[in-house]
Amino acid sequence: MMRGENCGGCIMLEPSFTLLDSNKACGKLLRTRASKSGQSTPILLVNIGQLVTLRSGSGNSGPRRGRELRELGIVEHGAVLCVGGKIVSVGTMKEATRDSWIKKHSNKIREIDCSHKVVLPGFVDSHTHPAFISPRLTDFEKRIAGASYEEIAAAGGGIRSSIDSVRRAGKSALTEKVLDALNAVASHGTTTVEAKSGYGLSLDAELKSLQAIQVASKQWPGTVVSTLLGAHVVPPEYQDNRREYVSLVCEEMIPQTAKRKLAQFVDVFCDRGAFSEEDSLKILGAARQNGLQVRAHISQLTRTPLERVLSLNPLSIDHLDHVSDSDIALLARSNTMATLVPGANYFLGLGDYPPARKLIDAGAAVALATDYNPGSSPTPSMPFVLSLACTQMKMSPAEAITAATINGAFALGLAQNKGSLEPGKDADMVIFDVEDYRELPYWIASSRIDTVIANGTIIE
Ligand SMILES: [Zn+2]
Repeated sequence: MMRGENCGGCIMLEPSFTLLDSNKACGKLLRTRASKSGQSTPILLVNIGQLVTLRSGSGNSGPRRGRELRELGIVEHGAVLCVGGKIVSVGTMKEATRDSWIKKHSNKIREIDCSHKVVLPGFVDSHTHPAFISPRLTDFEKRIAGASYEEIAAAGGGIRSSIDSVRRAGKSALTEKVLDALNAVASHGTTTVEAKSGYGLSLDAELKSLQAIQVASKQWPGTVVSTLLGAHVVPPEYQDNRREYVSLVCEEMIPQTAKRKLAQFVDVFCDRGAFSEEDSLKILGAARQNGLQVRAHISQLTRTPLERVLSLNPLSIDHLDHVSDSDIALLARSNTMATLVPGANYFLGLGDYPPARKLIDAGAAVALATDYNPGSSPTPSMPFVLSLACTQMKMSPAEAITAATINGAFALGLAQNKGSLEPGKDADMVIFDVEDYRELPYWIASSRIDTVIANGTIIE
């Protein structure tokens, strides 16, 4: 059984959190956070057919690599108790339900029978672009007819075609779109999301996008991490003066974002047709100077050597379709997550996928994300991404699940609270109507979600 040890059965959390009287388990106080919709009801999941905890078998507290990616910490016939949005105990039925507190408070606890079902930590989708207004249906048709990503961009489609509508949109309309996206990802089992700006590409429109993400995140029971992606592409009005746009990102967007606390991360699209390695280093350097963490889209269309970007200690670098063997060796020695987004390869019909097997076998830490966006990966579904990871990138179902949960949490710097089912962590859990975790990537494009719980609140 896994329990907090520091008070003989219950867990002391940060004193700034609200105190719930139902948390006087074992005669000690359990301080916890009230959910956004108010104080959540204690939840007890019982008779879980297969409880996938993701607890590290080796006690490793860092990102999972190599063989560790296959260690799911499965408990058969398990149970989980959550109080006030936090996990209190996890283990077999016998272990997790013997606390006398459960008997005393049985009338206050919501018990959910999970017989013949699988319970997983909520997915952590560490790469999404939800701040847009419309799908790109013309681009979709052009691509089907044979146009390439870059040909579509050159004809005024692609990222630039989303700019006008975002610039014109009111903050509330944009907020609605972001909230729709958050609800969509939750319906597929995601409880933590990284959300980028990046379709405004002016100071006002980027700040508006980040504000929309912030407002939407307050209305959603899950957890949102926001990222400034002012350096997505160079907007049309700076086409002949990209240096000036890079200065705008470094000297205005990043400082304003930091000052207003609108994002935790700054991202850059470092590739042909977007930003050069020099531009990207300048932008990420400005982010660090302003106290923001960094991440990057890199080596999607062409290779960028990783050494200099890795020297800035990004928590994650994403895409990596064209990563070289020497770059893989560098990544394996770093603490930076290699985040793969195979939904983009699928939707763009690229045929080739990022070299997940090489990365894993070399010892790099790998995460999976949807890259939810209107141009190259319009899917909110992490289970679909798991399917692609297994069938197209030859990751095992266990590796894919680890990459979509605990390693996603590491990619966002949230592994202390997210990505596994352990006492003291946030009560983010998904009940799937399947008997074996391998069914998640097996049933393609088929929702097997039974219940989604985020920060102790049932949202699906
Ligand atoms: Zn992206």
